[in-house]
Amino acid sequence: MTFSKKQLARAYDVLIQGVVCLDDNLRQGVLVYIESLLLEQGIQRDKYLSLEDLHSHYPYVCMGSYMPIDFFNADNLGLITACNDENFKPISLKVCTVLQGGHKPVHRWHTVGTYRCDDIISAIHVLLETLSNGAYFNPCKTCNTIRPAGYLDDEQVCGCCHDGLLGVA
Ligand SMILES: [Zn+2]
Repeated sequence: MTFSKKQLARAYDVLIQGVVCLDDNLRQGVLVYIESLLLEQGIQRDKYLSLEDLHSHYPYVCMGSYMPIDFFNADNLGLITACNDENFKPISLKVCTVLQGGHKPVHRWHTVGTYRCDDIISAIHVLLETLSNGAYFNPCKTCNTIRPAGYLDDEQVCGCCHDGLLGVA
């Protein structure tokens, strides 16, 4: 699976919004992997991703693993007995969607997928795909900040900007 520069740049824009939470088993390895993709593709940006960026306290995307993943020695993964079990999928990726309606937005978590240890790279690719998917995250037309899609109205304007516009009027 390969990503276009545009997709990667969008995924990066979402990542620095601090909406992603990765657990301790994944954070460092995923950061290094994504940074290497960004560098490889020459994505222009103001700063490198930090571990903090991937440790959101109010996440919309969560990825975790029940066991440590050896990112840098992929060949040795087969040595971990549990990883040899076809059905053992310790890695999970979840996304939260927001529905407007009634008085309060409704948050719903969905599991995007579960993955075997060996499939960590595919799992990161699905993560990047999720982040760059306009059905989940889109920029507000007014402030250009990337928001969860449910926080944008039909005109693609975010709640903050919408309230601001009302205040002026
Ligand atoms: Zn806005």
